[in-house]
Amino acid sequence: MGKDYYAILGVARNASKDEIKKAYRELAKKYHPDLNPQNKKEAEEKFKEISEAYEVLMDDQKRARFDQFGEEGVKFQGGFDWSQFHHYQDIQDIFGDILSQFGFGGGFGNPFGGFSTQQREPQGSDVYVEIPIDIRRVARNEKIEVYYFREMKCESCNGTGSETKRLVTCSTCRGRGFVERSSNQGFIMFRTTEVCRTCNGRGKIPEKVCHTCSGLGFSKKKDKIEISPPPGIHEEEIYILRDKGNYRSGGSGDLRIRFNIDYMEFRRDRDDLEKDIEIDFIDAILGGKTRVSLLTGEKEVDIPPGTQPADRIVLKGEGIQRKNGRGNGDIILRVKISLPKKVSKKQRELLEQFRKEKGFLSQFHL
Ligand SMILES: [Zn+2]
Ligand SMILES: [Zn+2]
Repeated sequence: MGKDYYAILGVARNASKDEIKKAYRELAKKYHPDLNPQNKKEAEEKFKEISEAYEVLMDDQKRARFDQFGEEGVKFQGGFDWSQFHHYQDIQDIFGDILSQFGFGGGFGNPFGGFSTQQREPQGSDVYVEIPIDIRRVARNEKIEVYYFREMKCESCNGTGSETKRLVTCSTCRGRGFVERSSNQGFIMFRTTEVCRTCNGRGKIPEKVCHTCSGLGFSKKKDKIEISPPPGIHEEEIYILRDKGNYRSGGSGDLRIRFNIDYMEFRRDRDDLEKDIEIDFIDAILGGKTRVSLLTGEKEVDIPPGTQPADRIVLKGEGIQRKNGRGNGDIILRVKISLPKKVSKKQRELLEQFRKEKGFLSQFHL
């Protein structure tokens, strides 16, 4: 029989999260090592045990596995340690007041103070890139190659920073990742904690510093991704590629991409695009055809007779691909009418004739 996490916290098998939280709160107050100076070691063991139970029962997946398979179902690799604990904030909430009464905590407020032996591994930060692209390439769903710099895992030491790929306990902080400083203010002693500068809070240092990365475990390198801008993407949106950011031993950050879209001759209104077209005044009056360059090619467009300046010609479904996969927006052509600056002799005669005819007609209309 393995451990019974319900029994450890003294809750029923169908206990709610609130009940579990309450039980943990009570027991944590009872067993926190700093509140048990007489039998610190024993309290430390007990505190770790209830925290392990709390970790399992507060996590729906872990709890379900535990219910089904018992302790075997949630086996912590190499036994439970504090790096696998995800509820630091709860402990901080429980002990915030008490710990400050004891002169505990400070800037970095490591909730485990004197008895933490495991530090959390550092997490990589996100990398931001801006990709300029024009709207026609977006519409064609074109695949583009993007080169960018990010901190990548050092292959020589497999990201450990150590030539031997082994780490040893930092002697400055004795593996705690932080150092304590004490100062007296009257009869009250203040204790504050600071991140250990030797190991940068990791608690561990390389056994033999890796030459390739100088012990960092990573180095800045050029990386390449291939990407097609998602249809309907807007320039304000951030497109995220998981784990393509800066590497650290605790996990990589993400790559965050902003597409800087050049709309060329278009103006965007959600999934619709508008552009100006210039048509000949004769075509505007009599009707005709004109070739217009759209997103994915040219198209012949009908101009209805009697078209006026600033009229809109709507080309259904020629706009930007909608996000929900429901077709495309429209392209709206805004009409501008061009008038000739010069006319030939023959054209002038015809226009004069047109004017006479117009005058003749208007006599009847007036
Ligand atoms: Zn250290
Ligand atoms: Zn290295």
